[in-house]
Amino acid sequence: VVVVRRRKELAGRRARALGVIEELEGIFATPIERLRLIADEMVEEMQRGLTSDLSGSSLKMILSYVDKLPTGDEKGLFYALDLGGTNFRVLRVQLGGREARLVKQEYEEVSIPPHIMVGGSIELFDFIASALANFVATEGEDFHLPEGRQRELGFTFSFPVKQTSISSGNLIKWTKGFSIEDTVGKDVVAELTKAMERQGLDMRVTALVNDTIGTLAGGRYGDQDVVAAVILGTGTNAAYVEHANAIPKWDGLLPSSGKMVINMEWGNFRSKDLPITDYDRSLDFESLNPGEQIYEKMISGMYLGEIVRRVLLRIAQEASIFGEVVPPRLEVPFILRTPHMSAMHHDTSPDLKIVAAKLKDVLGIANIPLQTRKMVVGVCDIVAKRGARLAAAGIYGILKKLGRDTVQTEKQKTVIAMDGGLYEHYSIFSECLVDTLRELLGEEASSSVVIKLANDGSGIGAALLAASHSQYLGFDES
Ligand code: BGC
Ligand code: MG
Repeated sequence: VVVVRRRKELAGRRARALGVIEELEGIFATPIERLRLIADEMVEEMQRGLTSDLSGSSLKMILSYVDKLPTGDEKGLFYALDLGGTNFRVLRVQLGGREARLVKQEYEEVSIPPHIMVGGSIELFDFIASALANFVATEGEDFHLPEGRQRELGFTFSFPVKQTSISSGNLIKWTKGFSIEDTVGKDVVAELTKAMERQGLDMRVTALVNDTIGTLAGGRYGDQDVVAAVILGTGTNAAYVEHANAIPKWDGLLPSSGKMVINMEWGNFRSKDLPITDYDRSLDFESLNPGEQIYEKMISGMYLGEIVRRVLLRIAQEASIFGEVVPPRLEVPFILRTPHMSAMHHDTSPDLKIVAAKLKDVLGIANIPLQTRKMVVGVCDIVAKRGARLAAAGIYGILKKLGRDTVQTEKQKTVIAMDGGLYEHYSIFSECLVDTLRELLGEEASSSVVIKLANDGSGIGAALLAASHSQYLGFDES
């Protein structure tokens, strides 16, 4: 009797679990017609954001003050500092101009202690300025700074900033894992400059750029067909080259290039057609920035693993798939990271041993039957593909805005510079994105569109922009 009851119970659990999965497939679905609607709304929001800062658009469409991209003529020693994810990077490059190009580069990566990400502003800037000062102290003979000149820096700051010039801008809000109240509204270049002074470091920020802008600049340095950049990492965002006369809100002088690079801040995109589920709502509600960055929270690396955790928790509660008691660690926010999710999703062993190992090591759940492991992979698949398809719709929206979504008569190539660990390391995600973009564009039009991985191009991009906005421009480089 006991055995029969036990069997019935297991069958019941399984049926309930399958019911939840079926429901998931419905609420996470992103059929192609829906992606087209989302892309159209992206274009409308872009247009509204370009019209006025008071338009109420979910896209800020920030003017970067970058009106010319690197040409290859950049010369000299430049530094860059890249702050935006869990690590930050300091970098120096020796640029040799048209012939020699990138003569030498060196960088260092420093991980940011979690308490710094949610502490005080002074502490954050002191921390990065001190790492920068240590790095500058290791500058070797291979790098040359002409006599009497100040070192110059491109500052990649990957958060929404209202730029006031190429080398200044006020923080609109923090995103991702950062939350430091007293920086909001401040000019981040002024804050960094003061911190550098406190370190006794004589250096000047000549370019303040978002990582999308840095990636676009770095991408263009290597390929003249780059017209947009997308980041799919801890957070997500995009930038592209816009016609200056298509930006009604811009009241400055028209640049001679006729162009202006726009930082979309697409992570904050909202549309009635986004498939927002209760999992997304509760994740958002409990996040550091409720109500903000909704698109980012459905797509980017900081959140995908957390969505999966929330789904698994619900299945565990409703169908006891991990035993009578809900495993306590499954209740811990952000314990399941996107790299764990990716490892499970890519598990090709017949008995899914990587899935078993991750469930055990990360969530403390052992002895999980194969069927349940398969179910876990299924959840990863649903969550990752929704994110990838939504990101593809966003890219398709940009291509539409640029008029590059149709077959190009002059065989014009369109290159999108891509950066970020999610795209780089989560291959099921990136393959799904590429496939979906092809489906949206159609075979023929998609043959002229290329997504090019620009591995950490944003640092070099920032250094290049620091060079093209140097205070010594026009002086003879000796
Ligand atoms: C920030 C963007 C940044 C993106 C990728 C988002 O959270 O708002 O400024 O470009 O992350 O790093
Ligand atoms: Mg980065």
